[in-house]
Amino acid sequence: MPRKLAAGNWKMNGLRANLVELAKLEEKHGDADVDILICPPTTLISACEDTPFDIGGQDCYAADSGAHTGDVSAEMLADAGASYVITGHSERRTDHGETSADVAAKSRAAYDAGLIAVICIGETLEEREGGTTLAVIDAQLKGSVPDSADAENTVIAYEPVWAIGTGKVPTLTQIGEVHAHIRKRLTDRFSDGTEMRILYGGSVKGSNASDIFSVADVDGALVGGASLKADDFSPIITALENS
Ligand code: PEP
Repeated sequence: MPRKLAAGNWKMNGLRANLVELAKLEEKHGDADVDILICPPTTLISACEDTPFDIGGQDCYAADSGAHTGDVSAEMLADAGASYVITGHSERRTDHGETSADVAAKSRAAYDAGLIAVICIGETLEEREGGTTLAVIDAQLKGSVPDSADAENTVIAYEPVWAIGTGKVPTLTQIGEVHAHIRKRLTDRFSDGTEMRILYGGSVKGSNASDIFSVADVDGALVGGASLKADDFSPIITALENS
């Protein structure tokens, strides 16, 4: 069984004062028997050095260094204390025009820097309603996940774009269908595909987490809004521990 992972994506939220939330989370889950990952804004990564949780970046540049004003390399994230990095989040794909080829290049850079890549994939509402969800997932898996991926260096996050930050959640049947499909593709392609973690992401809350974690091949969650406050993230972690 893959080790379970509760991952929080703070997006562009959080100042030093907000690190008190990590201290609160540590009181309840400092010795959790699931992995806990926090992806704060880059500016806070080095300030998280004392937390027992894993720390990740939210994006990285594909090159090691050079004339790329404002960008951050995977090696820089690792140097600041990160052990993970999110690649291909739909907000990066949409707001910054990142293609699956870009996401694969960033994920390879993550591996080279010793980081675990949390590679995000997911369909838009139009694609879901048009019946092309699984074809979209196939194309994103093929294009975004490098051949050098394995269960140690890669986590897949299935995040339907229409569920992110909207309060809308797919049915458990829909989640199960996509996760089973992803698992099949991973096991067809990678010798340790059964061990690769597949997270669900999109409006996960304390109130729906247990149901979502009961679905086969859901190995945890990537959580945005509900990861910002310890009181909101804690019940999700507890639900994962009890799943
Ligand atoms: C996300 O940003 O990856 C996400 C899943 O956000 P939310 O939990 O707020 O829907």
